[in-house]
Amino acid sequence: PQAPKGICGANADTIVVRNFLRAVAAGSGCYIHIVENTALNLKNTALTKGELKGLQTLDRLCGLFGITAADNHEKALKVAQTVLDDLHKPEYDEMTLTKVMAYAPRYQKWQELGILPGGAKAEVFKGVVKCSTNLNSDPVDMLLDCLKLGISTGIFGLTLTNLLNDVLLGEPEIRLAPVGLRVIDPDYINIMITGHQHSLFVHLQERLTQTDVMAKARAAGAKGFKLVGCTCVGQDLQLRGSHYTEIFDGHAGNNYTSEAILATGAIDAVLSEFNCTLPGIEPICDELQIKQICLDDVAKKANAELKKFEFAKREQISDEIVDTVIEAYRTRRAAVPLNLLPDHGNDDTLTGVSEVSLKAFLGGNWQPLIDLIVKGQIKGIAGVVGCSNLTAGGHDVLTVELTKELIARDIIVLTAGCSSGGIENCGLMTPEAAELAGPGLKAVCQALGI
Ligand code: SF4
Repeated sequence: PQAPKGICGANADTIVVRNFLRAVAAGSGCYIHIVENTALNLKNTALTKGELKGLQTLDRLCGLFGITAADNHEKALKVAQTVLDDLHKPEYDEMTLTKVMAYAPRYQKWQELGILPGGAKAEVFKGVVKCSTNLNSDPVDMLLDCLKLGISTGIFGLTLTNLLNDVLLGEPEIRLAPVGLRVIDPDYINIMITGHQHSLFVHLQERLTQTDVMAKARAAGAKGFKLVGCTCVGQDLQLRGSHYTEIFDGHAGNNYTSEAILATGAIDAVLSEFNCTLPGIEPICDELQIKQICLDDVAKKANAELKKFEFAKREQISDEIVDTVIEAYRTRRAAVPLNLLPDHGNDDTLTGVSEVSLKAFLGGNWQPLIDLIVKGQIKGIAGVVGCSNLTAGGHDVLTVELTKELIARDIIVLTAGCSSGGIENCGLMTPEAAELAGPGLKAVCQALGI
């Protein structure tokens, strides 16, 4: 560690940036995998004339992409194919949707800097090659690749994944919803879901509420099935939860809260399709006889059964999951004690916030919010987003305390991902949290009842 250079001659900047690029390429690969699967699910839904719940979003995407079509299924097919075509371009061919989706002045800046991404999958490939042993040693060149990967991941892996999910599963609606361990109802067969690929649950979500499946659950002694939200896909279900209140019980918690959710004893199966299904829950599942099932082999857990999702086999897969989970319920419920925490969380967390639902909530334009910021009554907007972790004072401690400090200074906080799971379980997204805000923000919250 004291030497100025490694044995190959690489200096600290090269070594650090190589490792950074490797991490960025890996992260981009994850979210490009998600958007690719989501677009494929939309394409297959369109080809089989399946249900499309978010028609406003579909029209919005058609407008942005310049698509015209005879009916909604043809529109969805073209939208999905346009996304897939971009993802699959070579690295030297710029993706067309970057310009369409990006904020125009920012796109111009990216163009000036020469960092517009080529095909998103090819960019990941290039990044992995560049950071390998004794290849690139120019830190600036590698950092520019990180920026390219950031653009493709943000626009495709995040924004477009969300919008395609909205088309399939319904658009977010602002509402108050229950969160925390209180959402777990032991009278039902409970499936905790973890991951990031909401579109893989489209068929199962519907199937679990159908009469014959409900009858199977009742024959086993339960009132029916419930999906219990955990990690980012739990946030996804919560976001669009107004469209399936019957099957979704609520978002119980984030990444590390999964251990506590399982420890209640009332979860009969974990259904995972991506990160963050923690390896640490495996011994808990073994101990509490909780069945683990994975829908995507990229997230295969050591002790889980793999039921790789294939659109064409979705009916068979859903029915196999139903039978497997009922069997787990039958064998474990008499043997495993319940440790419920019915007071954990709250019943009135604000959710369903998207840029469209928020704008509608403000009366159809951003002016009221801009006016409040210009007047100084609200000092600004901060994002507290992404993964929470255990290192900064304990689980959720940093994100929750930071949010309290920000709202006390009249700054609105936008939150997403597992940070959001902790912040909401601690009550900071309820109307009562207005009491913790500074005088300007408090008055706004109280006037709006949020
Ligand atoms: S926010 Fe982070 S920790 Fe939470 S599920 Fe998503 S990737 Fe995992």
